[in-house]
Amino acid sequence: MCEKCVEIDERIAHYREMAELSGGDALTILSIEELVKDFEDQKRVLHAGVGGSAANSTKQSSH
Ligand SMILES: [Zn+2]
Repeated sequence: MCEKCVEIDERIAHYREMAELSGGDALTILSIEELVKDFEDQKRVLHAGVGGSAANSTKQSSH
C-alpha cells in the first residue's frame, strides 16, 4: 500500500457511497461497479512491478 492506493481507495469508498445513495438504482450501481473495477485494476498495476507474490520484499524500490 502507498499514497496512490490510499487515494484510489478513497475514490472507491466515495463511489460506493454514491451507489448506496442512489437507493439501489441498478444502472447507477452497474456503472459504479465498473468504475470500481477500473480502480482495482489501477492498484494492481501499481504493484505489479516485480514477479507477483513476493512484492513485499521490494517495498522501497518504486514507492
Ligand atoms: Zn500502493
